[in-house]
Amino acid sequence: MRIGHGYDVHRTEAGRRLVLGGVTIPCEFGLKAHSDGDVLIHALADAILGAAGLRDIGYYFPDTSEDTLNMDSRIILKAALEKAAEKGLRFSYADCTVVAQRPKMAPHIESIRKCLSETMDVPVDRINVKATTEEKLGFTGSGEGIAVHAVCLLDE
Ligand code: MG
Repeated sequence: MRIGHGYDVHRTEAGRRLVLGGVTIPCEFGLKAHSDGDVLIHALADAILGAAGLRDIGYYFPDTSEDTLNMDSRIILKAALEKAAEKGLRFSYADCTVVAQRPKMAPHIESIRKCLSETMDVPVDRINVKATTEEKLGFTGSGEGIAVHAVCLLDE
């Protein structure tokens, strides 16, 4: 069994679409990014690549490339799983923590898990998504950004 960790942060920006785990969440701000800014998927894909010993998503999908402009991050997630599978590694479990003062995440958790499970073609009970605030401290607390931590297990 292999374990990987992923972490990502994006800055909030008024008027952009907020996409987390492939789900568009109604909110007056979104996340600034070259891609669709799906910070949850970026952290999860990095955890998968980390467990596989395959560097990070920036190596395969540079944010300087025209090809990745406004990219649907689900493509990145699928690619991370495919690269792991090429090394004989099968997804086992992931746990993701969204760190955001706003929006309230609880109403969206189940639709995010469902979207991730469909994108990854794995059972929904193999993906946990949870959320916390940082008690109005730091850049997540002030609403300047959203962070996500993810850990993932792959089976050899
Ligand atoms: Mg990112």
